[in-house]
Amino acid sequence: MLDNLGNLERTHSCGALRASDIGKQVVLMGWVAKRRDFGDLTFIDLRDRDGLTQVVFNATNASAAHAKAKDLRGEYVIAVTGEVVTRDENTRNPKIATGDVEVHASELLVLNDARTPPFQLDATQDALASEDLRLKYRYLDLRRPQLQANLRLRHRVTAEIRSYMTEQGFTEIETPILIKSTPEGARDYIVPARVQPGKFFALPQSPQLFKQLCMIAGLDKYFQIAHCFRDEDLRADRQPEFTQLDVELSFATLDQIYSLIEGMFARVFRLINVDLPIPFPRLSFDEVMSRFGSDKPDLRIKGMELQDLSPALAGTEFAPFAAALSSGGQVKGLVVPNGAALSRKGLDELQEFAKRYGAAALAWIKLGDEVSSSLLKALGPDVITRVCELAGANKGDAVLIVSGKPKVVAASLGALRNEVAKREKLIPEGQYEPLWVTEFPMFEFDDEDRRYYSMHHPFTSPVDEDLSLLERAVEGGETELLSKIRTKAYDPVINGVEMASGSIRIHRRDVQRLVFKALGMTTEEARSRFGFFLDALEYGTPPHGGIAPGIDRMMMVLAGTDNMRDVIAFPKTASAADLMIDAPGEVDQKQLDELHLKIVE
Ligand code: ASP
Repeated sequence: MLDNLGNLERTHSCGALRASDIGKQVVLMGWVAKRRDFGDLTFIDLRDRDGLTQVVFNATNASAAHAKAKDLRGEYVIAVTGEVVTRDENTRNPKIATGDVEVHASELLVLNDARTPPFQLDATQDALASEDLRLKYRYLDLRRPQLQANLRLRHRVTAEIRSYMTEQGFTEIETPILIKSTPEGARDYIVPARVQPGKFFALPQSPQLFKQLCMIAGLDKYFQIAHCFRDEDLRADRQPEFTQLDVELSFATLDQIYSLIEGMFARVFRLINVDLPIPFPRLSFDEVMSRFGSDKPDLRIKGMELQDLSPALAGTEFAPFAAALSSGGQVKGLVVPNGAALSRKGLDELQEFAKRYGAAALAWIKLGDEVSSSLLKALGPDVITRVCELAGANKGDAVLIVSGKPKVVAASLGALRNEVAKREKLIPEGQYEPLWVTEFPMFEFDDEDRRYYSMHHPFTSPVDEDLSLLERAVEGGETELLSKIRTKAYDPVINGVEMASGSIRIHRRDVQRLVFKALGMTTEEARSRFGFFLDALEYGTPPHGGIAPGIDRMMMVLAGTDNMRDVIAFPKTASAADLMIDAPGEVDQKQLDELHLKIVE
């Protein structure tokens, strides 16, 4: 038999009681986390979002409540009235905030029962049930204190962001969800339009054009905690729908944007008691790619920079190196401190790892008591010594070497840098190392499609000095210059995580047209996709720029998890499904007919 709540009200949460409350009559409500039965005494750990309190039912003093407590099971919902009592010295529990006290129950209301949960809620991190099972019963998984803490931190973060942006003079403006394609380089989610058969809305990959239109509208300083949708292959740090702090401001210089965003990160990191060092150092894309092989280098890893080994290899006859160097490629190395101790198996694993990033092979040199190397025969001891000098390796270290196209060398050595640092435990905990990566290239050539794509998006401004390159490339036919153009685009990176992307935008219609042309769009295509925007650019567009820090990624760093689903209440799986509501799902024929859609098997 279940009891009614009636007018009974909670006096405290389950995480609130302390020694100073001893002697008080209290009412607690929550879920039964654990029941331990010792005959005349029954102990219940009562849980709510705030914590756990131990409740004791005593057969002598409260026989009715004690009898009722015998029937309690895990996850039953109860209300307990009782007195706060000190715990015996030897039964105090320093692991929980309420551990000095317990509540001696006089009355028990059973507000609801519960089926046995399909998995254990209080399992330790490594004993957790499979994630798919937990996602199916997300509402139970969310009862776990860790996830509750993450979501509450997330709320504090967005609340902090809103007050910071408001103090800085920004206005939060909502932009529509049913729109036309926005080009962030991913696939669109599309929604059929019932009232206009054959036409479709796209969900925003970001509010990019709307925030720029806000600038044209004179709104000056815009922000929005915005939901965005991108249909792309998922990785651990991506979700098909995600949230970003979308920002745009007029008459903005790079410095203004950098300090605005540094201030925002500093405020948010204060919530986890971290003082971020500001201003962030600024490194150009070219510099980070050459030094770290990554456009999001983890600066917690000290040293371990990529070194160009070509000066030691001039005239080499070793075919892979000779071929790379004669065709505009590179040979670069990475020192693994104390790497001479790497086992054959360890090296083989790193070899496989490097291949995943496109490397044809991973060569190595170990500076142990003797020098050993996969290249000893091919290069000879003198060249090996010179290579080690150039790499900056000392006795006891190892050098890992990759040759090939600059892109492949950077990608594989950059990834190895992170991997080796992780394996060798070279990444200090509790440290936060931010930087700005600046001057991204404007375009990227896609070898498969044989065409250029925007590296950021097509509204990104070139640096002033490179505008003439854009003109020559597009109007003068010197297409190869496209790969040389640098932009006013910037990414803040913290601990190797890309925290945001942004840029100063193009505000001149002539420049915007050049960019569309460079991307291979005819005037008609540009008009049909972005005509409204090109028109708007003709009505007095102020210089402007913006950025969009990803809230989910930011939360991963703040909550210290490498699983994005841990910081989202109702996330999707790697195959973009919601296992709880079973979406995506089918729709009935009537809905399809209304939308003029037909499923082709
Ligand atoms: N719209 C961009 C994005 O969502 C960010 C920006 O340029 O502000 O990635």
